[in-house]
Amino acid sequence: VLEIRDLNKWFGGLHVTGGVNFDLQPGEIHCLIGPNGAGKSTFFRLILGEHAPSSGTILYEGEDITTAKPFERIRRGISVKFQVPGIFKALSVRQNLQIALQHHQEAATLDEEIDRLLEFLKLTEAKSQLAGNLSHGQKQWLEIGMAIALKPRLLLLDEPTAGMTPDETFATGEMVQALNRQGVTVLAVEHDMAFVRQIAQRVTVLHFGKIFAQGTIDEIVADERVAAIYLGEAHA
Ligand code: ATP
Ligand code: MG
Repeated sequence: VLEIRDLNKWFGGLHVTGGVNFDLQPGEIHCLIGPNGAGKSTFFRLILGEHAPSSGTILYEGEDITTAKPFERIRRGISVKFQVPGIFKALSVRQNLQIALQHHQEAATLDEEIDRLLEFLKLTEAKSQLAGNLSHGQKQWLEIGMAIALKPRLLLLDEPTAGMTPDETFATGEMVQALNRQGVTVLAVEHDMAFVRQIAQRVTVLHFGKIFAQGTIDEIVADERVAAIYLGEAHA
């Protein structure tokens, strides 16, 4: 669904995305890993159009979206859960989902759809709570829900399990797999290797803005060059 060719992004003198060539196959779950500052979040912002690339092209479903505005990409089916929170803390869980869903859902079925999404996100019991009062893991689920509400065909998740307990992380993996079975292609930035192993069909390692390695999780874990770039990192 994505064909990225020779993508470059400079911030001043900093080459944050360094000539990336990347293909995402329709229907796959792909994890993007790499040390802090490798350029993973920047790569997502380039795909969503929040940053303009310095050079290179991005094709989505065969069409050139390199200069398309973010809302245009969202309309075409790309949705992102960013690393920084994007929920309305002073509104209830239900109200948050209502806001995200209302443009994509007929009024007659809106309530039903909100209930279905609450159930999927394991947030039914928390639906009346203010989003700001949720546990850390629940907030992450609500954010994933806000992204799903846009009914994407390509879902980008930036560290969806950050700060989650192992049980919450595993449940998140099941959510991602359920979405994938419904036809959603998933690209996830992730530090938790157990989660990567649970969901990823392929893994790409980004290092200093370049693709350093690509393969199955077993190939990546066995790669001594990859192990070397993680030396000294707590989450390796
Ligand atoms: P992390 O694992 O910590 O989330 P990351 O792989 O997501 O890291 P990015 O957030 O993409 O990394 O940042 C890559 C580099 O680009 C860093 O050196 C960062 O300081 C720099 N950077 C990111 N955004 C900007 C910006 N808007 N302006 C200038 N430099 C930036
Ligand atoms: Mg990041």
